[in-house]
Amino acid sequence: MKYYFAVTYEVCEHNDLYLDMNEYTIDSAKDLDNQIKEFAKIDVAPVVKVYESNTIDFKDFSLYKEYNFKEFECGCDGSSSNVSYTSY
Ligand SMILES: [Zn+2]
Repeated sequence: MKYYFAVTYEVCEHNDLYLDMNEYTIDSAKDLDNQIKEFAKIDVAPVVKVYESNTIDFKDFSLYKEYNFKEFECGCDGSSSNVSYTSY
Protein backbone atom coordinates (compact mmCIF):
# COMPACT_ATOMS: atom_id res chain seq x y z
CA MET A 1 0.00 0.00 0.00
CA LYS A 2 1.29 3.41 -0.99
CA TYR A 3 0.29 6.72 0.49
CA TYR A 4 0.30 9.96 -1.46
CA PHE A 5 0.26 13.64 -0.77
CA ALA A 6 0.62 16.68 -2.97
CA VAL A 7 2.45 19.97 -2.49
CA THR A 8 1.71 23.11 -4.45
CA TYR A 9 4.58 25.43 -5.41
CA GLU A 10 4.73 29.07 -6.33
CA VAL A 11 7.40 29.56 -8.98
CA CYS A 12 8.93 32.66 -10.52
CA GLU A 13 12.09 32.09 -12.52
CA HIS A 14 12.69 35.81 -12.81
CA ASN A 15 12.85 36.36 -9.08
CA ASP A 16 14.42 33.00 -8.21
CA LEU A 17 11.28 32.11 -6.35
CA TYR A 18 10.41 28.51 -5.59
CA LEU A 19 8.10 28.38 -2.61
CA ASP A 20 6.10 25.49 -1.31
CA MET A 21 2.60 26.64 -0.46
CA ASN A 22 0.18 23.99 0.72
CA GLU A 23 0.06 20.28 1.36
CA TYR A 24 -2.91 18.19 0.33
CA THR A 25 -3.77 14.61 1.04
CA ILE A 26 -4.67 12.51 -1.96
CA ASP A 27 -7.79 10.42 -2.02
CA SER A 28 -6.58 7.28 -3.75
CA ALA A 29 -10.16 6.32 -4.57
CA LYS A 30 -10.44 9.34 -6.85
CA ASP A 31 -8.72 10.23 -10.09
CA LEU A 32 -5.26 11.62 -9.34
CA ASP A 33 -5.01 14.04 -12.25
CA ASN A 34 -8.33 15.69 -11.40
CA GLN A 35 -7.35 16.17 -7.78
CA ILE A 36 -4.04 17.74 -8.77
CA LYS A 37 -5.79 20.11 -11.15
CA GLU A 38 -8.11 21.19 -8.34
CA PHE A 39 -5.19 21.87 -5.97
CA ALA A 40 -3.39 23.89 -8.66
CA LYS A 41 -6.53 25.92 -9.27
CA ILE A 42 -7.08 26.65 -5.58
CA ASP A 43 -3.53 27.95 -5.09
CA VAL A 44 -2.94 29.21 -8.64
CA ALA A 45 0.15 27.01 -8.57
CA PRO A 46 2.23 26.43 -11.71
CA VAL A 47 3.86 23.38 -10.14
CA VAL A 48 2.31 20.60 -8.08
CA LYS A 49 4.41 17.69 -6.89
CA VAL A 50 3.05 14.36 -5.72
CA TYR A 51 5.01 12.41 -3.17
CA GLU A 52 4.58 8.78 -2.23
CA SER A 53 5.35 6.92 0.95
CA ASN A 54 5.15 3.36 2.16
CA THR A 55 3.94 4.46 5.56
CA ILE A 56 0.97 6.56 6.52
CA ASP A 57 3.10 8.87 8.69
CA PHE A 58 5.17 9.88 5.62
CA LYS A 59 8.48 9.48 7.46
CA ASP A 60 10.11 8.37 4.23
CA PHE A 61 8.78 9.77 1.02
CA SER A 62 9.93 10.22 -2.54
CA LEU A 63 8.81 12.26 -5.51
CA TYR A 64 6.23 10.37 -7.51
CA LYS A 65 5.02 12.83 -10.12
CA GLU A 66 5.43 16.47 -11.03
CA TYR A 67 2.70 18.47 -12.75
CA ASN A 68 3.27 21.75 -14.57
CA PHE A 69 0.44 24.15 -15.30
CA LYS A 70 1.35 26.72 -17.94
CA GLU A 71 -1.80 28.72 -17.31
CA PHE A 72 -0.74 29.42 -13.72
CA GLU A 73 2.82 30.53 -14.47
CA CYS A 74 3.74 34.02 -13.38
CA GLY A 75 3.27 36.67 -16.03
CA CYS A 76 6.19 38.87 -15.09
CA ASP A 77 8.72 38.06 -17.84
CA GLY A 78 7.39 40.94 -19.92
CA SER A 79 7.26 39.01 -23.16
CA SER A 80 4.66 40.42 -25.49
CA SER A 81 2.81 37.12 -25.76
CA ASN A 82 1.79 37.43 -22.12
CA VAL A 83 0.59 41.00 -22.36
CA SER A 84 -3.05 41.57 -22.98
CA TYR A 85 -4.56 45.00 -23.46
CA THR A 86 -7.54 46.75 -24.87
CA SER A 87 -7.13 49.64 -27.25
CA TYR A 88 -9.90 52.11 -28.04
ZN1 LIG B 1 7.87 35.80 -12.55
